Amino acid sequence: MLASVAYAPGDLRVEQVPDPVVVEPTDAVVRVVLTCVCGSDLWGWRGIAPFSPGRRTGHEFLGVVEQVGPEVRDLRPGQLVVAPFAWSDGTCHYCRRGLQTSCVNGGVWGEGTSDGGQAEAVRVPCADGTLVPLPEGTPVERLRGVLALSDVFPTGHHAAKMAGVAKDATVAVVGDGAVGLCGVLASARLGASRIIAMSRHEDRAAVAKRFGATDVVAERGDEAIARVREITDGIGVDCVLECVGTDQAMATALGIATDGGQVGAVGVPYEVSTIDVQQMFSRNLGLRVGVAPARAYIEELLPDVLSGRFDPVPVFDHAYPLAEVPRAYRDMSARTTLKALVEVSTP
Ligand SMILES: [Zn+2]
Repeated sequence: MLASVAYAPGDLRVEQVPDPVVVEPTDAVVRVVLTCVCGSDLWGWRGIAPFSPGRRTGHEFLGVVEQVGPEVRDLRPGQLVVAPFAWSDGTCHYCRRGLQTSCVNGGVWGEGTSDGGQAEAVRVPCADGTLVPLPEGTPVERLRGVLALSDVFPTGHHAAKMAGVAKDATVAVVGDGAVGLCGVLASARLGASRIIAMSRHEDRAAVAKRFGATDVVAERGDEAIARVREITDGIGVDCVLECVGTDQAMATALGIATDGGQVGAVGVPYEVSTIDVQQMFSRNLGLRVGVAPARAYIEELLPDVLSGRFDPVPVFDHAYPLAEVPRAYRDMSARTTLKALVEVSTP
């Protein structure tokens, strides 16, 4: 089969690799229908994240179960399933608490020797705990929105939950990538009364508004803090979603939170080196940082995606065939593509 393999930063090749097979009795093999490229894939591609040559790429996919191991109970060949970006057994201490990213038997696609989602098929460990079957008769035109449940929508939702977004909260979202935009959508879904999207790109700001943003702030750094304070009568917002992962984004997030407010940070923090704890102390700011246990949220978010009520599909602005995954990375890195959808096969 074809799979995307990373050889060096900037050197990604779609090439023939052995077909995946059931190895452990709890495995399934999934034929990929749709996959995509994540902003976090670019950290490795740019050489910022730790890198091991020869590893597979991609951690978001949706597809059809082809084979199941003898101990797989809840899945059968032919079922359409969506995979979160990490596999998990669904039974350990952490999985039972809804923190599947800490699963004692878990892992992330493309790490170590595991398969990646940017491929024609994937061996899925702990299939029962990991995969979420889609309802019978799920329309094909909804699948792109469902694919966003692999990562970006649950991650935006996690940021909102960590920031304490609830009915009538005032919210600001730092970062206008797919996760930030999904953070806007998740905040709207949770009933926020005001959502300030921080974006200087017109097309991304337009998606943010479509997702429920009430205000757009284009400024950055200290100017952004001043602008948000200006439009909130000087008090800032209750909840801030930090979806970038840089020192500047973290400083902005803390700066625009109201005293007693809370920041939920999901930006992968490769470029966060300082956090102003003194400011957090004097202004009673809360900060929660964490990788989203996407698996914990998929069932909750799925009905709203299937009904189209809260549909993240506008984050996918360009589609590519599997063979053009390297071009998709280049386009996302150049910011000419917001989030690349990769069409692999038909369901
Ligand atoms: Zn577990």
